[in-house]
Amino acid sequence: MSGPLLWLALDGVGHPQDAPPDSVWDTELPTLRPLIDAGYALDAALGVPGLPQSATGQACWLTGQDAVRVMGEHFGPQPGPTLRRLLDAASLPAELTQAGGHVALANFYPPGYFAAQASDQRRGRPRHGCFPYSALGAGLPLNPPDLPLVPPTLGLDHTAPWKPQWPRGDSARLGETLARTAQQCGYDLVMLDLWLSDTIGHLRGDPAPAAALAAGREYLRRVDALLAGVLAGGAAAVLSSDHGNLENLHTASHTRARVPLAWAGVADPSPLADVVQGGRWLRHTLGLTDDSFL
Ligand SMILES: [Zn+2]
Repeated sequence: MSGPLLWLALDGVGHPQDAPPDSVWDTELPTLRPLIDAGYALDAALGVPGLPQSATGQACWLTGQDAVRVMGEHFGPQPGPTLRRLLDAASLPAELTQAGGHVALANFYPPGYFAAQASDQRRGRPRHGCFPYSALGAGLPLNPPDLPLVPPTLGLDHTAPWKPQWPRGDSARLGETLARTAQQCGYDLVMLDLWLSDTIGHLRGDPAPAAALAAGREYLRRVDALLAGVLAGGAAAVLSSDHGNLENLHTASHTRARVPLAWAGVADPSPLADVVQGGRWLRHTLGLTDDSFL
């Protein structure tokens, strides 16, 4: 493929088909929703009891391998030694980089993130999530200096009630600038680890807390705006999720809901059933054809 692929990796957003009535999905998403509806709802439970978690789910996407089977259970939020070994052996950013591809993780990491990592490191417990872990493993910097960086809060406060810090339209402008800059810099893949959705989904209360419902809808509208900007900037896009959570605010925990896979500007995949197949398709789409695809 030519031009950059922007991978919007949502954390903790189940598919609208598996959401209860009046969920966060019941809001105007003019760019995102048609792509979600035309895409696939993928199983994230992988035949294993319990609630899917971020580390195993994201490792499936990043490696195209069944990280839940490797781990023996759903596990998260950060990868431990077993999943780190899997990511070391077979992560998409590393393999694409080794194949001559140009890859970035365009999340903005504030200074506090690095301070927390340094203190965890001193205690022998590095706590990177799968995306920063695999970016660093591929030799890529966090906060790449040549790209406009995307705060994964998309301009909302990172704690409840997640008040907006900047207008939604800024997300569209940021997406467009990111797509154009990625094109100019010759990127093949730009990843975004969009985790605020999972944080919002963990707010406790039934009926669904009004603040979480409002913030969840606003976050999805900002994802919609970001995606619209990315496409206006001429990039292709893939949107995925690692497990359910935000789509069902009647529970503060994760869910076993299927997760969305949506795409624009890349060839349609043949039907896919689960997040492992989703990860394998993503590798294939980016030209990594060394593994037996489906
Ligand atoms: Zn979570």
